[in-house]
Amino acid sequence: MISLHNHSTYCDGKNSPTEMLQDAIKQSLTHFGLSGHAPVPFETEWSIKNIDVAREYITEIEKGIIEYPDLKIYKGLEADYIPGKSYSFDYFREDLKLNYIIGSVHLVRNNSGIWFIDGPIEGYDRGLKKHYDKNFMAAMSQYYQQQMEMLEKENFEILAHCDKVLMHNNKRYVNESDDAHLQLLKDTLKMASEKNVWVEINTRGLYKGLHQDFYPGTYIFSFIKKEKIKIIKSADGHATDQIIKGFSELDKAISEFGIEDLVVCPEEIEERFS
Ligand SMILES: [Zn+2]
Ligand SMILES: [Zn+2]
Repeated sequence: MISLHNHSTYCDGKNSPTEMLQDAIKQSLTHFGLSGHAPVPFETEWSIKNIDVAREYITEIEKGIIEYPDLKIYKGLEADYIPGKSYSFDYFREDLKLNYIIGSVHLVRNNSGIWFIDGPIEGYDRGLKKHYDKNFMAAMSQYYQQQMEMLEKENFEILAHCDKVLMHNNKRYVNESDDAHLQLLKDTLKMASEKNVWVEINTRGLYKGLHQDFYPGTYIFSFIKKEKIKIIKSADGHATDQIIKGFSELDKAISEFGIEDLVVCPEEIEERFS
């Protein structure tokens, strides 16, 4: 089994990289990666503080690679793209000798500032009011444009939770199947596919009870099938008991839609991440 989207105490996770690796072995995984939140050029409560701390994080993973040769261990980061602000993904890749990067948008930027779509619902609504005057369509559109700009400008392997903008929406502002939303998501997925970026299907919102579906949800699975978009299962684990959490539900959905053949296989990972 494969699990590549995982966090540790170097960012906002509960366990050290070593503990995560040891548990991956206990849970019989074959391919395991850590993808700490990359540093951003301002302080947050959830990202790796700076490049020096990122180097320590990588050193700890490298020790694990030597100590646990039977598990295929990969060095990654979940890097935020913020137009005009975030560090280039290549900088992290080269400095830290990463095997892979998960490209992510949690911070949506416009002229008035940054809307943080993750975290508690109060912050989500406050940001929507402050930066978009409660115009959800404009904010949502900016989120997807920012993801597409990331696909255009940065070099990365996996696209993170690509409809996470819906997390605190709860159908209050838009229905996920509305054309206005679907078109933006479809454009994003097509672009990911053209750029050979794998699209993760992330189970975290579902098992945390924060969202009623995967990111992205099953409403888009028939499109994924039609366009033959490569997908990868992610639990976005922030603790040892989360590294494959939600995978059995996801496997069920994948088989119901008949898209098993689109799931990235171990050989593809070994080839691309070597
Ligand atoms: Zn994320
Ligand atoms: Zn994550």
